[in-house]
Amino acid sequence: MPTERESKLRCSFCGRTGREVWPIVEGPSEASICHLCVSLTDVIARKLKAEAANATCAFCSRSIAEAVGVSELMENTYLCLDCEGRLVKAIRGGWKP
Ligand SMILES: [Zn+2]
Ligand SMILES: [Zn+2]
Repeated sequence: MPTERESKLRCSFCGRTGREVWPIVEGPSEASICHLCVSLTDVIARKLKAEAANATCAFCSRSIAEAVGVSELMENTYLCLDCEGRLVKAIRGGWKP
């Protein structure tokens, strides 16, 4: 079950709260992401497109140009592979059905 704090988190991508989608991981800079959105990431190098858009990682705010790889979460919303790896781990580790 989500903790009181987790149930108040809101996924920055789909807008669902921790009450609806759990596990949900809280990131830096007030971003949070739920497991549904992490599993939706399209881990293909969209880097060129992202670079062209001057994109930053939605989670750590690092410029995509510095990132090794990038996932596109949804149109114009990107996640660097560092964050994606951490999120997947955190979500798997926190998953206690
Ligand atoms: Zn979500
Ligand atoms: Zn990142």
